Amino acid sequence: GRKFLVGGNWKCNGTIEEVKKILTTLNEAEAPSEDVVEVVVSPPFVFLSMVKSLLRNDFSIAAQNCWARKGGAFTGEVSAEMLVNLGIPWVILGHSERRLLLNESNEFVGDKTAYALSQGLKVIACVGETLEQRESGSTLAVVAAQTKAIAERASFWSNIALAYEPVWAIGTGKVATPLQVHSELRKWLHDNIGDEVAASTRIIYGGSVNGANCKELAAQPDVDGFLVGGASLKPEFIDIIKSAT
Ligand code: 13P
Repeated sequence: GRKFLVGGNWKCNGTIEEVKKILTTLNEAEAPSEDVVEVVVSPPFVFLSMVKSLLRNDFSIAAQNCWARKGGAFTGEVSAEMLVNLGIPWVILGHSERRLLLNESNEFVGDKTAYALSQGLKVIACVGETLEQRESGSTLAVVAAQTKAIAERASFWSNIALAYEPVWAIGTGKVATPLQVHSELRKWLHDNIGDEVAASTRIIYGGSVNGANCKELAAQPDVDGFLVGGASLKPEFIDIIKSAT
């Protein structure tokens, strides 16, 4: 079975004091066993060490990005090797905020994914369409092209979770329901990669998930968890962690 995965993407938020507060809330919360729900919190790079030393052991950690190849003369970048060296198991790649605001192409996200996997990181790879793309009927073509660029470069899928995050649902209070894209993405994996990858790859949803809508979303077919933005900074993140149980 596919273990429910809940990621908390803190994005570019937080002070030392706020991070301590979030960690206290998380550490004191009653959460389902890690055999049932995998929880991954993703702070900005500068807080990774602190979160690593203070976060409870049954929750895991993701960086929000990494460089597409071996480190070196790349000012401002953080390499996959550095994350591994720090003991960070996961990285989020291809978030729409980076694709759109920093012009990250499908190919670049595919390169990053392949390199991160080669260094032993697990990857939450994000895909999703803009409102304009949805309205023109190209949702599936867009997410398929994003997934294909990853598939062409990644040599294995066992350490990839796909996050479907429609851009128009991020931070807007709008939710993509019913989530038929999840079933379509799984069919795409089946047709283009194979049975086993389609059956085992987690496809999680992101976009305005909160404590109030998480139960209903978690019950939808082919939804294997969430990638939570705004609500991951609040105590309701605990409700979201519990939504599948
Ligand atoms: P919100 O939950 O704030 O809509 O953000 C979703 C997201 O982008 C998670 O990566």
